[in-house]
Amino acid sequence: MSIPSFVSDRLRLTRGETSCQRLVSFYLDRQRGADDSLNAFVSVDESRAIDRARSVDVSVASGEVLPLAGMVLAVKDVICTKDGPVTCGSRILEGFKSLYEATAVRRLEKAGAVVIGKTNCDEFAMGSSNENSFFGPVRNPVDPSRVPGGSSGGSAAALRAGMCNASLGTDTGGSIRQPAAFCGVTGLKPTYGRVSRYGLVAYASSFDCIGPFGGTVADVAATLQVMAGLDPHDSTSAPVEPADYGAALDRGVSGMRIGIPQEFMGEGLDPEIRAALEKTAEQLETEGADVKDVSLPHTEYGIATYYILTTAEASSNLARYDGVRYGYRAEALEGDGSRLERLYTESRTQGFGTEVKRRIMLGTYVLSSGYYDAYYGKAQRVRSLIRRDFDEAFESVDVILTPATPSTAFEIGSKTHDPLEMYLNDIYTVTANLAGIPGLVVPAAVHSDGLPIGLQLLGRHFDEASLIATGRVLESVRSGVTSHQE
Ligand code: GLN
Repeated sequence: MSIPSFVSDRLRLTRGETSCQRLVSFYLDRQRGADDSLNAFVSVDESRAIDRARSVDVSVASGEVLPLAGMVLAVKDVICTKDGPVTCGSRILEGFKSLYEATAVRRLEKAGAVVIGKTNCDEFAMGSSNENSFFGPVRNPVDPSRVPGGSSGGSAAALRAGMCNASLGTDTGGSIRQPAAFCGVTGLKPTYGRVSRYGLVAYASSFDCIGPFGGTVADVAATLQVMAGLDPHDSTSAPVEPADYGAALDRGVSGMRIGIPQEFMGEGLDPEIRAALEKTAEQLETEGADVKDVSLPHTEYGIATYYILTTAEASSNLARYDGVRYGYRAEALEGDGSRLERLYTESRTQGFGTEVKRRIMLGTYVLSSGYYDAYYGKAQRVRSLIRRDFDEAFESVDVILTPATPSTAFEIGSKTHDPLEMYLNDIYTVTANLAGIPGLVVPAAVHSDGLPIGLQLLGRHFDEASLIATGRVLESVRSGVTSHQE
């Protein structure tokens, strides 16, 4: 089956060949049929989706222009949809219902999108394989013995398996781009501040971004267009006007300067992924781009810096889950200390999974008074150096082309014994979050193991348009990918 595309479904809708109701029913049927084996969704609200689809059809019939009519959307379950459950893949939010609507979701639904359900993810978006969810792992639709990537694995898998025609993920260190690469779909991490974080449950607030998955670059461009822009509810959303991303699709790469950072091409990179990148670079040159080497000298410190700063922020953000204010509360409190202390301790002990606890402890440690300068302070300084690397590289190139992941999707269970090995999987993605720049992953080829290979394009702050222009060319020249062209 080809990968669904909202843009193609919308074309059929505008020609009168289908309706929003028919599209929603079609994808809900597919979700019902496939989900037991893939575990991509944690909740689906069919009757709400059908009702909404009906009202979108009525609005369209009455002449209202809804740019996203026909979008059947799956939303990562760290993003709030008012009055619906939000679990963050955790037991600790058991029974909790969102008090308000995320701005990104509100804007998409206002433009005609219909949310059908919430997707499985690593607990509080901490993970690279979707094996850290309280609700069990998600499987990769391309090969169910493999992980779909994480932490937005459910959103990538739902799209790849044809259970929706667009989905939302979040990216703090690669959680949109790595699952996109592993599942063979397109995924965009916008610039930090491009899309409001209002209604996104915080993991590491100075890194977290909401972004789209789509079947094609045109799909993610259409979704970004509606979500992007200043939001008074989020003081970190930026007062920068979104570009015309639809126009960027046809810009081409003629005269575009594209850099390949040598630090991303070294040891540990699968030779077939390297070959796919080199071939793509040649094709981009044929299309008129000027491809050259660039250097990002502090890349090797990316993983360490990322895991110090994000765990520090997480330890603070996750302090609010105390068994009193939200969700899960431990019963039968035996042991030492006051009853209130035992309530906190037991609720958190039982409510959080292993990886979340590991990160809370790491973060608490790096922020502790004796170690603050040695770890947190130093990591902040390295973050500046990494950001400066990109600023300097973008003086001589417009876009940077890199592998998205060192390997294709790995076997379920193969890295769970070693957190460090799991963290190393983020090597090509975390630096963009440290610098706050946008990144687009586009499927580029199929590996001899049968799994998708995705390549990453990185751009200047708020220059998603150049990524969309380059990504569209990349998608048109690639060979061997099973995805359709719209
Ligand atoms: N895999 C990374 C981590 O475990 C990235 C997570 C993310 O982007 N949410 O933190």
